[in-house]
Amino acid sequence: MMKNEKIPYKTYLNENEMPKAWYNLRADMKQKPAPLLNPGTLQPMKAEELAGVFCEELIAQELDNDTPFFEIPEEILSFYKMYRPSPLVRAYCLEKKLGTPAKIYYKFEGNNTSGSHKLNSAIAQAYYAKKQGLKGVTTETGAGQWGTALSMACSYFGLDCKVYMVKCSYEQKPFRREVMRTYGASVTPSPSMETEVGRKILAEHPNTTGSLGCAISEAVEKAVSSDGYRYVLGSVLNQVLLHQSIIGLETKAAFDKLEVKPDIIIGCAGGGSNLGGLIAPFMGEKLRGEADYRIIAVEPASCPSFTRGVYAYDFCDTGMVCPLAKMYTLGSDFIPSANHAGGLRYHGMSSTLSELYHQGLMEAVSVKQTEVFKAAEYFARVEGILPAPESSHAICAAIDEAVRCRESGEEKNIVFGLTGTGYFDMIAYQKFHDGEMNDYIPTEEELAVYRAKLPKVE
Ligand SMILES: *Cc1c(COP(=O)(O)O)cnc(C)c1O
Repeated sequence: MMKNEKIPYKTYLNENEMPKAWYNLRADMKQKPAPLLNPGTLQPMKAEELAGVFCEELIAQELDNDTPFFEIPEEILSFYKMYRPSPLVRAYCLEKKLGTPAKIYYKFEGNNTSGSHKLNSAIAQAYYAKKQGLKGVTTETGAGQWGTALSMACSYFGLDCKVYMVKCSYEQKPFRREVMRTYGASVTPSPSMETEVGRKILAEHPNTTGSLGCAISEAVEKAVSSDGYRYVLGSVLNQVLLHQSIIGLETKAAFDKLEVKPDIIIGCAGGGSNLGGLIAPFMGEKLRGEADYRIIAVEPASCPSFTRGVYAYDFCDTGMVCPLAKMYTLGSDFIPSANHAGGLRYHGMSSTLSELYHQGLMEAVSVKQTEVFKAAEYFARVEGILPAPESSHAICAAIDEAVRCRESGEEKNIVFGLTGTGYFDMIAYQKFHDGEMNDYIPTEEELAVYRAKLPKVE
C-alpha cells in the first residue's frame, strides 16, 4: 500500500491507458439476469421481436450474456476522447473535515456539457442507430440529463432526436429543455396529445404531472409508428450497463496505477446504469473469486425499489407497451411523492443489478432527501463541486461510511461515483434552503396497492 502523501489529488489515465473495450459483467455471472419477456406470450423476447423498437446491434448487446468484452468502435472512442478518461479524485478536504482515517475517492462524470455519465451510453446508442442507417431516435427524459446527453450524441452523428420530457421537469427545468434544443432535439412535455397512450393517460388523469414510465410509453409508440426511427433508453437495460462499464474500467485502471484496492464501492441507483458501470470490473473479480469488495447501492427513501420493492416480473412503463423485466420493483404505476426532488425516480431497477442483489453480492441502503441535500451542500462547500442531487445519494452514504471509520479507527478505502453536476437542479436546492423540502416516505399500505397490480407471471 502506498503512503498517503504519494497519492495525487487527481488521477487521470492517459489516452493509451483508456479502455478499448466495454466489459459485460453478465459473462461472469453463473446465475444470469432473467430475460425480458414478451408480455403476450410470456416467452423470452427474441431479437426479431425487439427489432421494431431497438437498433439491431444494441439488441445483440442486450441479449448477450456470454461475451465478456465488446470492442469500442473507433468513432465512439474518438468521441470519448473529448471528455474521457474522467478523473478519479482523492477527496482530501472531505477526509480532513470529517476527521476520518478512511481514504475517500470519487470518480467524477460531470465534466461534459450534459453534466452526467449518461453521455457514455448516449454516444454509443446514437452511433449504432446511425450505422443502421436510421433517420432518428426517440426517448424519454425525467430530470433531463439523458435527453441532453442524447441530443448531444445525435447532433454529433447527424440524427434526429425526439425527446418526451416528464411534464413537471419540462416546466421546472426550462434551461435543460433549451440545452436539448440547442443540440437540435425536439422536446415534448409528457403526457402529450401526440400519442395514443399519452391521450389515454391524459383522459384518465387530466392533471398528471407525468412520470418516466408514461414518457417511455409515448417514446416507444412514436418510434414504432415512425419510419426510420427506433427507441433508445438511458438506463436500466443491459446494453446501457455495458457502455457504462467504461466508468468502472477506468476507475480500476487508476486504482491499479496507484496500487490502491478499494474496500467499499458506493453508487446511487436510479435504473442502475452508473452503479452497474462503476462496479462492473470489481464485481467481475468478486464473481470469479479473485477479490472481495463491499458494494453499496444508494436509493431515495421515497422511491425505494431495492430496499422495499419485490423481485418480480413487471412492466417497464406505465402504458405496458414494453417487454416485461424481472427486477426489484415498486410496481409500474408507482410515482414518488410530488415533493420528491432528488431524481432516481424510476419504479424498477436493472435486471442485472437486481439479480446480483438477490444473490447477496451487493447491499442497498435508502436515504431521506433532506439528508441527501445536506450532504450535497456539505460536499459543495468542502470539495468545491456542486453535485447533482442524484449523485448526492452516494455522497451521503460515503460520508456515513467515513464517519463509521472514524468511530472504529479503520483506514478503509472508499470510492463513490460522482455522476454529475447540479447546475440545473437549483429549484430543488432552493426548496432545501427555504426549508420547504420534506421526507415523504411511502407507507406499507401504499406500496401494497402498487404491488397488487404486478403482472402475474410465474
Ligand atoms: C440519470 C442519473 C442518475 C441515475 O441513473 P442510473 O441509471 O441509476 O445511473 C444518477 N446521477 C445522475 C447525475 C444522472 O443523470
